[in-house]
Amino acid sequence: MDSGRIVWAPHVEHGFILGTITDIGSTTITVQPTAANTKAITASYNQVFPAELDNKKEADDNCSLMYLNEATLLHNLRIRYSKDKIYTYVANILIAVNPYHDVPALYNQQQVAKYKGKSLGLLPPHCYAIADKTYRDMKVLGLSQSIIVSGESGAGKTENTKFVLRYLADNYGSGDDIDKRIVQANPLLEAFGNAKTMRNNNSSRFGKFVEIHFMKVGRVVGGFVSHYLLEKSRIVMQNSRERNYHIFYRLCCGAPLDIRSKLQLSSPDNFRYLRHGCTQYFIGDKEAAKVKDVLSDEHKEKGGLKDILLNDYADYTKLVGSMKQIGVSHDDMLDIFQVVAGVLHIGNITFEEGGDSSGGCIVSETSAKSIQITSQLLGLDASALTEALTTRSMRSAGESNTIKVPLKQEQSSSAREALAKSIYSRLFDHVVSRINQCIPFQASDGFIGILDIAGFEYFEVNSFEQFCINYCNEKLQQFFTKRVLREEQDLYAKEGLGVHELIKPVKHIWTLSQKTLLSDLIESPRTGILDILDEENKLPTSSDHHFTSVIHLKHKNHFRIAIPRKAQLATHRSLRDDEGFLIRHFAGAVCYQTVQFVEKNNDALHNSLEILVANSKNKLVSQIFKSSQTHSTKGKLNFISVGNKFKVQGLYACCTKLLNGTNQLLHLCFAACNLCKSHKRFSRCPALSVLNNTGSSFIRCIKPNLSMQGALFEGGQILSQLQCSGMVSVLDLMQGGFPSRAPFNEVYSMYKAIMPPKLKRLDSRLLVGLRKVVNLLTQLGRLREMTGVLKDNRREMLLKVEKHEKN
Ligand code: ATP
Ligand code: MG
Repeated sequence: MDSGRIVWAPHVEHGFILGTITDIGSTTITVQPTAANTKAITASYNQVFPAELDNKKEADDNCSLMYLNEATLLHNLRIRYSKDKIYTYVANILIAVNPYHDVPALYNQQQVAKYKGKSLGLLPPHCYAIADKTYRDMKVLGLSQSIIVSGESGAGKTENTKFVLRYLADNYGSGDDIDKRIVQANPLLEAFGNAKTMRNNNSSRFGKFVEIHFMKVGRVVGGFVSHYLLEKSRIVMQNSRERNYHIFYRLCCGAPLDIRSKLQLSSPDNFRYLRHGCTQYFIGDKEAAKVKDVLSDEHKEKGGLKDILLNDYADYTKLVGSMKQIGVSHDDMLDIFQVVAGVLHIGNITFEEGGDSSGGCIVSETSAKSIQITSQLLGLDASALTEALTTRSMRSAGESNTIKVPLKQEQSSSAREALAKSIYSRLFDHVVSRINQCIPFQASDGFIGILDIAGFEYFEVNSFEQFCINYCNEKLQQFFTKRVLREEQDLYAKEGLGVHELIKPVKHIWTLSQKTLLSDLIESPRTGILDILDEENKLPTSSDHHFTSVIHLKHKNHFRIAIPRKAQLATHRSLRDDEGFLIRHFAGAVCYQTVQFVEKNNDALHNSLEILVANSKNKLVSQIFKSSQTHSTKGKLNFISVGNKFKVQGLYACCTKLLNGTNQLLHLCFAACNLCKSHKRFSRCPALSVLNNTGSSFIRCIKPNLSMQGALFEGGQILSQLQCSGMVSVLDLMQGGFPSRAPFNEVYSMYKAIMPPKLKRLDSRLLVGLRKVVNLLTQLGRLREMTGVLKDNRREMLLKVEKHEKN
């Protein structure tokens, strides 16, 4: 870092800006930006990074740049993005920046065919290349693979997941119906599990792991979808600029008149569950004429809707088409729609004070019709539904008779919301299993699983949902870290560098922090947040305040948890000791407000409602409740822990156990893992691939701007995503070892002029491989300059490399 050198200096808006060093202090560097009229920037040493000599140079793989650091990574992405090259590698990790406009040239059939059978790196970076690599690994190694797609909301996870699925189905399908079905399952999943949010017009509000199964010959035989954590609160309430799940609007606006009248559906404005959010629904001008009767006066006045970001009318038709294609019969489809309509009508049931001395409430007169319609659609008895919503059955200890305790207005309202949430989320479970029935397979020799879950979330107010999502991301990050570390070490071994121990200190620091957060704070038996929450749920007088106080009491001096105070997070108000907690996650500190944690952790309905719906005359309703029917004898709330369900089932549990994996643990995991249970075959456990280390691949999606616009690259917030996703840590890790993967011939020609004759004579084409590059640079004594700021351990590394070479 000499004076006059071109470097990247930190910048809030752009992430980094280019400039020249004008002054070097003892702890800071002053940089004069090259852009005109820009003030000099003074920053600490570790915030200023060397820039590439040719600033217009871009690289398919960041590792082939001379200077590998967060600034050159960001700049490389920026140049490529401006050319619609949205994909870039960092070694084997694929970064995908959302283009926010269609790039047909990237995804046409020629491209699909072009990537078939090609090794990673032969063609420009692409999710197809990752898909093909996992396919070939699965075949060659004979073991299942997984692709982990991550990124924040709107970053493009679901789109990339779909591209990968389509690629595999098109190139390696059996040419029969099953390939199409696997692809067509998506519109159905999205109709029920996606919604318009402020960040994404088609935001997935659930996580999924889609497996595509193959026979030994390498042909698709079927698939299996597992889902995690549907956001239930959205069913009954949305932020004013967001919407409920797409299906509701599609039915109200897109279904033909006969279905709408059978289901008693009309404009979305007539439903309380849709009215709270953004009531806008979207229909194209042409369709507006066809569904005039659906338009409310307000919308008619507005003269139809120009905004066709989402076209509910057309999307209904597409949905019906894809249900048909995957083999859902017309009758089954109508049954599903009927339950959806039932949920909407539940929302229109309101309560008012009963007027008698019991303090209980009654169903408002104005919603008598809603009770009738709901009962009819959901196969319930109207008076039984009224009673179950306005009273609770209690049986005191030692007594055999149950008594009906009247509910207050707000208690009845919350029972209503619980009912709607429970029915819809179970219907969603049903839709997923219906999809699985449509893509069955008798036997399979392996699969490629693609994980698409919500990324790290951090809002102004963070609740139980964010806690679960961030917990999950913490786990995935831990998994990611271990994988990347291992891959680096393997590469060094392959290149004969023998410097495994060099990255150990980094490894230790890197993994330790996540480990303690997960094992001490969240998962530990009895004292972890999940267990404390479950204990609270079981108390007769449980409360969010008590739960929060216990957490602070048990983890008083833990460095990863704190009581949220104003000073710690500028964007939050201070909270009292019993109102919330702050967790320092790998991606940053998040303040959780614990209101409703206890309630949200309980997945059970109160007993009278549970019994009512389980005995519904509507076959589908009773079916979706049958599996969980429980008979509480004490009239207490049943308790099904959401948090622990999340911990002990599914992929995340598998990952935890397998990461520390022994065979014994693998069997344990098999016992706990729903995925394995449903597959009934241990060998199909997605986690097995993790244990056997057959290579999980990562696609890190990046959202380029907050306004969902094409061609807008907001450097500052992209940099923070790179940091949150662990990409910057990957660079740090590589810095601890051998960061640059510059092709040998480039290094050769760069230093040819000063090479000793012995080396000059060598043919550069023969000298591929990291070891040779290191060897050459060592001899030239230029490694320091090549790899940026020399860290202490690099000196050590040089010695070791030299020693190794001598031996
Ligand atoms: P969430 O976590 O909210 O579900 P996500 O990461 O799944 O977000 P997507 O739904 O995949 O985000 O992408 C958001 C939108 O960005 C898409 O609806 C699409 O309009 C656009 N988009 C994403 N990736 C691409 C792409 N490769 N090409 C074109 N448009 C894209
Ligand atoms: Mg999504």
